[in-house]
Amino acid sequence: MWTATVLTLFPDMFPGPLGTSLAGKALTSGLWHLEARDIREAATDRHRSVDDTPSGGGAGMVLRADIVARAFDALPSIEHRPRLLMSPRGKPLTQARARALADGPGPIIICGRFEGVDQRVIDARNLEEVSIGDYVLSGGEIAAMVLIDACVRLLPGVMGNMTSSEQESFSDGLLEYPQYTRPADFEGRTIPEVLTSGDHGKVAAWRRAEAEKLTKERRADLWAAWQRAQGKDK
Ligand code: SAH
Repeated sequence: MWTATVLTLFPDMFPGPLGTSLAGKALTSGLWHLEARDIREAATDRHRSVDDTPSGGGAGMVLRADIVARAFDALPSIEHRPRLLMSPRGKPLTQARARALADGPGPIIICGRFEGVDQRVIDARNLEEVSIGDYVLSGGEIAAMVLIDACVRLLPGVMGNMTSSEQESFSDGLLEYPQYTRPADFEGRTIPEVLTSGDHGKVAAWRRAEAEKLTKERRADLWAAWQRAQGKDK
């Protein structure tokens, strides 16, 4: 079964939001498995300390390499699983990466805290740093939840309507078209007529045009990549 194993100083934060709605139902019905392990259990001294002051000086504390390695090495059968470290220095998470992770056995995810993790355990255990965006969080737990949520909704059987994940933002390189539902009139604003026409071809063409327009307006980077992919780069 697809399993997310999380190493954290705050295992009580899990499943947290992953325990409700789509991901939560799938968790309860056994479509995926979540394992949150306390890094502090790998502590060896009386005070169960896991961090220390940064070598070279500076603010804050750093998670110790030996402690993180002990927590990591205590995991059973990890050979074929991605080993991730949530980190603002990491490669940005994308829909394609979430898809690839969802297609695998499920990742081991280490959550940093304080100023981060001693570089030597990142190197020694070959951890891949993954970022959820260009901002700094106080810990890796929420970032790990973001990553897990993005994967879980792609697992077979989790989303009722399987085509909805194929059409949404990023899947084909474009942002999604605008969505509408009843009532037909909201404060004088109506639903675009084509959507109630029953003409599936026209609906698809309208959605494609809207998706292109939105992507062009909002995301020059995605638009350029999409145009290149279509071979109509001018
Ligand atoms: N001093 C570090 C930031 C540490 S923030 C730096 O400047 O790079 C503490 C922890 O929060 C990190 O170790 C990481 O696990 C997590 N974190 C913070 N921002 C993140 C982001 N954008 N993506 C993923 N994890 C993040």
